[in-house]
Amino acid sequence: MSKNYTIRCRGLNENFNSVFTFNNAVFETSGLLPGEKAEVSLLYGKGKGRAKVEKITEISENRITPVCPVYESCGGCSFLHTSYENELRLKTDVCKGLLSDFGEVKECLGMNEADSLHYRNKVHATLSLNKKGRVTSGLYEETTHNLIPINECAIERPAAAEIMKTIRRFMDDYHLPPYNEDNRRGTLRHVLFRIAKNGDTLVCLVCGSKIFPEKHKLTDEIRKKHPCVKTVILNFNNKKTSFVLGDKEELLFGPGYICDELCGIKFHISAKSFYQINTEMAEKIYTDAVKLSGIGKEDNILDAYCGIGTIAMTAAKLSGAKELTGVELNPAAVRDARESAKNAGFNNLRFIDEDAGDFLQAAIGADLHYSCIIMDPPRSGTSDHFLNAVAKMKPEKLIYISCNPATLARDLRFLTSKKYKTEHIQPYDMFPRTANVEVLCILKHQ
Ligand code: SAH
Repeated sequence: MSKNYTIRCRGLNENFNSVFTFNNAVFETSGLLPGEKAEVSLLYGKGKGRAKVEKITEISENRITPVCPVYESCGGCSFLHTSYENELRLKTDVCKGLLSDFGEVKECLGMNEADSLHYRNKVHATLSLNKKGRVTSGLYEETTHNLIPINECAIERPAAAEIMKTIRRFMDDYHLPPYNEDNRRGTLRHVLFRIAKNGDTLVCLVCGSKIFPEKHKLTDEIRKKHPCVKTVILNFNNKKTSFVLGDKEELLFGPGYICDELCGIKFHISAKSFYQINTEMAEKIYTDAVKLSGIGKEDNILDAYCGIGTIAMTAAKLSGAKELTGVELNPAAVRDARESAKNAGFNNLRFIDEDAGDFLQAAIGADLHYSCIIMDPPRSGTSDHFLNAVAKMKPEKLIYISCNPATLARDLRFLTSKKYKTEHIQPYDMFPRTANVEVLCILKHQ
């Protein structure tokens, strides 16, 4: 048995893991609140010290009992063991630690506590057989490939759980085992849901086998029991991968997308497109971004990493900007953006299916100038290629929306070395109860 040591948690690091110092080295673990004392066993990994909490010996006054029975094993949430108020404080502290070099970091703006559960409009469930041979669904345990059965999730919109019940029962009734990655047998592997504010739901059945003869019967059953389902898509994915969706799709019912209203604009959302998982907070951050940046009629704006064009269209609506271009690598999202813009009557917007860096480098070559660039990249942040092009073009205003304050800090270090000054840094709790935070940052060229 490994030896236990007594330590005290001194705070959370950039990944929202708990950290402590032991023998002059920094270790990380999960689940401890700042100030808590615990007995831990040390696990030495690749160059980084990790530890496992064996027993908490001094409990923080901010600790509460999690509302979810699988909280410890699932790993989807990281803040159900503390009050929402304290979660916001901890998120503010992490952002301050990473971003204070660039200016004043405001307090993290949260949701009303009552709304901070059941907000996720995108739900993903993986299927498996349990020991009794019944179909179960849930998420893989954080560090293994063991499925944690989840019948109700604290942060997902509840409609998904109801539909999953129907799917599980159908598979049991028809003796359809879920797809097994190891022996490549079985049918359904995952189910992906997109749920609009008005309840309209997209169901994407991800199948590991090429043939799924019961697909129409299952679709009928889902539609009969859940009239909120407006479209059902069959996606084929038999690869050994952590990606949920494969390339091939077959439409089983409806138009292949749902519409959701965000900032008063109706957006097309298909299974493969990115859409912010928390609509209420997305509305807040996009509206603030337009207002606080002061963009207006005279601006020529580029929305880089634009997804289905949510920020571009919100900016066009609220600022009245003359011209607006969106650039995005995922062709499905670009198709959604074009459709939504057409339906909403925007004729000053164009959406381009290209790498953001390549597009901006080519724009410089063509002597184009944008007065404002909005960037909302994936967790990895923007590319050097893209940032070098920004520094060369020198737009007067930059709006950086980031879902990872660590890569935001890296990119701000570069931008502030190129005569950009940070005017506004505001964290938003876009992902309550989980180890993620969204940050809006507004920069002006000096
Ligand atoms: N602004 C959108 C999407 C943000 S998510 C919204 O708020 O809804 C980031 C987006 O960047 C994704 O849609 C992803 O497909 C896209 N993306 C990733 N790498 C890219 C690249 N190199 N060039 C352009 N877009 C990229």
